[in-house]
Amino acid sequence: MTIKKNVYENTVHQFNKAADIMKLDADVRKILSCSTNEITVNFPAIMDDGQVRIFTSYRVQHNNALGPYKGGIRYHPRVDINEVRALATWMTWKTAITDIPFGGAKGGIKIDPSEYSISELERITRRYTFALGSNIGPEYDIPAPDVNTNPQIMAWILDTYLSMMPPQERQRCYHVVTGKPVELGGSIGRNKATGQGTVFIIERWAKDHDFDLNSCTYFVQGFGNVGSWAARLMKLHSSKLLAVEDATGAIFNQDGIDPDDLYAYAIKHRGISDYPKAKMIDHKSFMSTTADIFIPAALENQINADTAPLLDVKLVAEGANGPTDTDGDTILQEKGINLLPDVLCNAGGVVVSYFEWLQNKRSEFWDLDEVDSKLRRIMNNSYARVLDAVDAYHVDWRTAACIVALSRLEKVYKGRGIFP
Ligand code: NAD
Repeated sequence: MTIKKNVYENTVHQFNKAADIMKLDADVRKILSCSTNEITVNFPAIMDDGQVRIFTSYRVQHNNALGPYKGGIRYHPRVDINEVRALATWMTWKTAITDIPFGGAKGGIKIDPSEYSISELERITRRYTFALGSNIGPEYDIPAPDVNTNPQIMAWILDTYLSMMPPQERQRCYHVVTGKPVELGGSIGRNKATGQGTVFIIERWAKDHDFDLNSCTYFVQGFGNVGSWAARLMKLHSSKLLAVEDATGAIFNQDGIDPDDLYAYAIKHRGISDYPKAKMIDHKSFMSTTADIFIPAALENQINADTAPLLDVKLVAEGANGPTDTDGDTILQEKGINLLPDVLCNAGGVVVSYFEWLQNKRSEFWDLDEVDSKLRRIMNNSYARVLDAVDAYHVDWRTAACIVALSRLEKVYKGRGIFP
């Protein structure tokens, strides 16, 4: 898969388009067009062979008008300031669309985690947390998992952060990070939340379009947290998974692929490559799969001028952040393909992160029914808000979603005014 442009250009384009159409207040526009804080830290960590290596890391805090900064941490060799800036901006929009009391942030380390041992990753994670210091905090900026990070990494962040606190203050700071293992204060349902939210939004779309998910076909790019959960939850509708692509390759089976069986295989073999119950295909064939729904759940800029013409689907449901670039958007619209945009479709993760944060603050533990029913309600309400904006402004879904977010933020800034 190719990653072409600077992804932040897409964000700026989306922002300007929505701001123009809704006539966003000129002063609010200036504020929301840049991030509040952009932290770059180069930090050392000791490798297993005793050598010291320097790592470059970021935390971008885009906006906190609606609540503490909130957003995941990504470990990937391609992480750079523009990518983190784009992801942080989308977080601001996502929390505004879902109407949860958080702002937007994102962080990342420029690293290929597959090149490091577990103990090296632990030291790198702890040293990154130490380097961020008071730039994160339970009422200030709350990280969570993203690409190549997981509950174990959140546990190391938690432990490092708490270890830097005076002992008598530690118990009240468990909500400094979300996506923790359940035994360490994580929420039931957080691990599947992004995939679950994506499927709730697909269900809502299907209801609106009188579309039968039980007999539909779909394919998924990315088979990590978001992609594998989305695929496994679509299975509950008996929808047929035709193709999957991850960093190790792409596979196809016209008779369908069992997502649970593939998941077990992918865990064991560290990827889907050579899965025996499907054939390997190339990227172009993968993107050309004829199906009802495509769920991109890997990285940015996957649906672009080269690949969008290949798509033969009715719906793109964006599990990933920024999988469609501006050319891709135009081509999807020309082809009449429906789009459920990332800032709506994958918001389930941050919504259940909010639930985790609340449970920690209140010393509560909710069961899965409570988490899922509250998540479904928030996703449905968010969908309805975006649909209203589609109708009111006669725009595409991505622009409408951005308008919902900017309108909410505009009200807050106009109500509070600009200090001094
Ligand atoms: P992950 O690390 O669990 O999985 C990433 C998947 O993408 C893996 O299967 C990997 O093999 C695949 N991938 C990587 N490079 C690829 C390539 N070149 N071609 C095809 N596949 C490739 O990450 P995740 O948490 O599932 O995140 C996936 C996307 O969802 C990202 O855009 C992320 O920002 C977004 N997202 C994640 C969450 C969350 O809660 N984890 C929430 C909202 C959005």
